[in-house]
Amino acid sequence: MDEELGKKFAIFGSNVKHSKSPVMQEAAFKYKNINATYVRHNLKDGTKIKEEFLKGEYDGANITTPYKEIAFELADEVRGIAKKIGAVNTYIKEEDKVVGFNTDADGFMRAIEDFGTVEDVLIIGAGGTAKALAVVLKKAKKRVSIVNRSADKLKFFKELGCKVNSWKNYHLDAYDLIINATSIGFKEDEYPFKKSKLENIFINSSFAFDCVYATETPFLILAKEEGLKTKNGEDMLVYQGALALEHFIDIKIDKNLIEVMKDSLGED
Ligand code: NDP
Repeated sequence: MDEELGKKFAIFGSNVKHSKSPVMQEAAFKYKNINATYVRHNLKDGTKIKEEFLKGEYDGANITTPYKEIAFELADEVRGIAKKIGAVNTYIKEEDKVVGFNTDADGFMRAIEDFGTVEDVLIIGAGGTAKALAVVLKKAKKRVSIVNRSADKLKFFKELGCKVNSWKNYHLDAYDLIINATSIGFKEDEYPFKKSKLENIFINSSFAFDCVYATETPFLILAKEEGLKTKNGEDMLVYQGALALEHFIDIKIDKNLIEVMKDSLGED
C-alpha cells in the first residue's frame, strides 16, 4: 500500500448527489494504490465552505456550482491562474492553510487539444466557467468573444480584453471554435443562444465544445448537423479532476491514469 495513508477528500456543492467526481477520483486512487476516500458534501450555505472543509478534516476537495467564487474569497491563499479568474474548484490543506486552485481552465485546454488550430473563439455565457475559459484562452493568445443573455456580467471579460456582447447587441462574426459555457442544454430544443443565430455562426466555424457533460445537448447536435467537429464536457471533467489530483496527492498524471478516470464514468 502507498505511504499516503487514509487521506480524505470531498466534492462540495449545493447539489452534488449526481456528481461524477467521487467515482472518478476513487478509480484513480485504486489505480495508483492510494488509501483515500472521496465523499459528497452538500452545502446549503457557501459562506461556510472553508469552515466545513476544516471541520471535515479533509486533505483536499473539489468545489462545484455555485461556490467557486466564495471558495476563492475564503481561501487563505490562492495560487496560479485562479488568482486572475477569481474562482477556485480545488482546495488543499497545507499545514494550517487552505490553499485554492483552479483546474477547470487547464482541464479545458487539455480537452480541446485534439481540435487542432484554434485562433478565434466565441464563448456563450459569462458565469464562473466562462471566466476560467476566457482567462486561459487569452493567456494562450487567442482572440476571445463573449455573448451572454444579460449585459451585467460582461465587465470582467471587457477588462480582460475580450470582445463582449449581450444577446441584444450581438452582430454575426466568424470563429474557429464556439463554446457553450452556460448550464443550458438538458432539455430538448433548449439552446444557450437563439437557434437561428447559432446556425448562422456555425456556417463559418470548425469546432463546437459544450461544458455540459452529462448529455449530448441540442447545441452540440445542431453543430454536428452543420458539419462541425464537436466535443462535450466529459474530457474537461476528467482533466480538471486529474489536475486536482496532482494537487491532492503529489503525483504526475499520465495517459493511463486519464484512461482509468475516463472509463470510470461509464461505470457509475
Ligand atoms: P453559472 O451559473 O456561473 O453561469 C451560468 C451562465 O448561463 C450565465 O452566463 C447565464 O446567463 C447563462 N444562462 C443561464 N440560464 C440561461 C438561459 N436560459 N439562456 C441563456 N443563458 C443562460 O454556471 P457555471 O459557469 O458554474 O457552469 C456553466 C456550465 O459549465 C454548467 O453546466 C457546469 O456544469 C459546466 N461545467 C463543466 C465542467 C466540466 O468539467 N465539464 C467544469 C465546470 C463547469 P445570465 O448571465 O444571463 O444569467
